[in-house]
Amino acid sequence: MTAPDKITLIVATRNAHKAAEIAAILPPRYEVRTLADYPEAPEVEETGSTFAANAELKACAISALLPGLVLADDSGLCVDALGGYPGVLSARYAGEHGNDAANNAKLLRELSHLGSTQPFTARFMCAMCVAEGGRRIAEFVGSVEGTITLSPRGEHGFGYDPLFVPQGGSLTMAELPAERKNAISHRSDALRRFREWAEQ
Ligand code: IMP
Repeated sequence: MTAPDKITLIVATRNAHKAAEIAAILPPRYEVRTLADYPEAPEVEETGSTFAANAELKACAISALLPGLVLADDSGLCVDALGGYPGVLSARYAGEHGNDAANNAKLLRELSHLGSTQPFTARFMCAMCVAEGGRRIAEFVGSVEGTITLSPRGEHGFGYDPLFVPQGGSLTMAELPAERKNAISHRSDALRRFREWAEQ
């Protein structure tokens, strides 16, 4: 089968940072739409206990309402010394959904209580689910290993990026320009697998 020239993809998110990263990582043959283009689309409750379960919930719910291929990203930070937390709670770790400053402050507080177990190894995880007509078609995962710094640094990116130092370097994810983050991130790892599937 020859791959079509244009692939239209609805990314089931209202997170502008995630949407921008996905659009920047995918080549121009992908026409990326997001829920900003569909203001009537509902909020989908993330009640799953894994990234994969939440990605599937979002992709299936949105694709049941909108025509075409829908891709959902559920992602977060897993810190070993915290038993994998914040994990699926990453967006609402400090209580209020999407409050990055409060989430980062809580993470630093939790780690400072642990004292001497540095370096705090961690990974960003991303599960992506593709669905159409309310049914899951495929799923892809991605990750990037690193450590948590107790001195937040950098202005790029979003979420926990100022606290995460990808393995093999000394800069935080937020100190890397977008192209560097997008070359190594959990999101680009999952999208690499997605593209292998979509373009075969
Ligand atoms: P979701 O919308 O439920 O998938 O939650 C995503 C949350 O995980 C975000 O609000 C961030 O706190 C965190 N997160 C996911 N990806 C990234 C990233 O690339 N950088 C920093 N934080 C991220």
